[in-house]
Amino acid sequence: MYNKKMYNLGASRSVIRELFEYGNMLKSQIGEDKVFDFTLGNPSVPTPSDVNECIKRLVDTDLSIHAYTSAPGNLSTRKAIADYLSTTHGVEVDPTLMYMTTGAAAALTITLNAIVESPQDEILAIAPFFPEYRVFSEGAGAKFGYVEMDEEGYQIDFDKLEAMLTPNTRAVIINSPNNPSGIVYSEDTLIKLSSILTRYSEQYSHPIILIADEPYREVIFGDVVVPYPMKYYKDTVVCYSYSKSLCLPGERIGYIAVSPSLTEAQSLYLCICGAGRSLGYVCASSLFQKVIESTVGLHSDNSVYQQNRDILIRELSSLGLKCANPDGAFYLLVKVPDGDSIEFAGKAKQLGLLIVPADSFGAKGYVRIATCVSTDMVRRSIPYFHQLMEMYR
Ligand code: PLP
Repeated sequence: MYNKKMYNLGASRSVIRELFEYGNMLKSQIGEDKVFDFTLGNPSVPTPSDVNECIKRLVDTDLSIHAYTSAPGNLSTRKAIADYLSTTHGVEVDPTLMYMTTGAAAALTITLNAIVESPQDEILAIAPFFPEYRVFSEGAGAKFGYVEMDEEGYQIDFDKLEAMLTPNTRAVIINSPNNPSGIVYSEDTLIKLSSILTRYSEQYSHPIILIADEPYREVIFGDVVVPYPMKYYKDTVVCYSYSKSLCLPGERIGYIAVSPSLTEAQSLYLCICGAGRSLGYVCASSLFQKVIESTVGLHSDNSVYQQNRDILIRELSSLGLKCANPDGAFYLLVKVPDGDSIEFAGKAKQLGLLIVPADSFGAKGYVRIATCVSTDMVRRSIPYFHQLMEMYR
């Protein structure tokens, strides 16, 4: 009677949400302290106090915080972000090619709708990848495919990438630091990727757009450097979110930045404005645009994620489990002993350990453990991981 495609999307809940809701139910039955919920990427550290102070100040002093802004967002906000990006990464970022969005999900959806024209168009992701890329790509009317995982270094398997590029490939989505592996793509990876995409764009006589999904750019450990994709490939669109870097996932604020060097950049930007308009994604939160403008460059303290990573990697490795070693984000991608991630997560669930099978991330035989939880919970969970592995002895 109504739209079947949307019905199916609405009716099929994500594995992550389902486990998360199961966890809440279990907590109410057996007690919070007996459930170890590693499902959601909901940051556990506080929003920086300067951000909270800024919100209070704006609420008290700025009468325009609740007003509409222009559809792509305040130019002053875009200018502040563009200046920060240009200075930090040594690239030119043009505020008039930026569009403020309600988080990275909207940034990706708008960008994909701006690029996709025909049902033959293909969008490629690199495994492991955020499963919603499939929903966003198919929702924009494209076919979705992915390049299988490089199980050695979790970078990009370039032979597999080349084998998947076709004249219908419109865009490749990358995500670094990566959800779910936590891996950061090296400069060498970006140089190789750029060279391949440039070659195929020339061969197919249209640009293959690189969509860099970057919500974890500032969630990094130690002195890790995350190379800025615009520096390496001219046809780049950056989709960014403050959900993770400022721990503001519920406020829904982010942006799209089209590289000034992109082929017909102005034309793609107008497509982005059109897609934003047709999807109803105009004027992202006025209050949070102003907050970002005043606090640009700030990010939350990531030390707790690093501490959790270190404890879990040490303990899981001692149990014989192989994990990707993350330089950022707040997840661990763990290979399960017999390749059956559904069974592994099912056995873990019986012990109150809630972890996500990563098959829908293009990582068959792996599970994802979200490490954005309290270190106390991580420590208390360790004996249960031991019990879990006992089941495999
Ligand atoms: N991209 C990746 C890789 C993510 O992990 C997430 C959220 O977890 C998103 C995009 C969506 O981010 P947002 O909450 O800003 O819409």
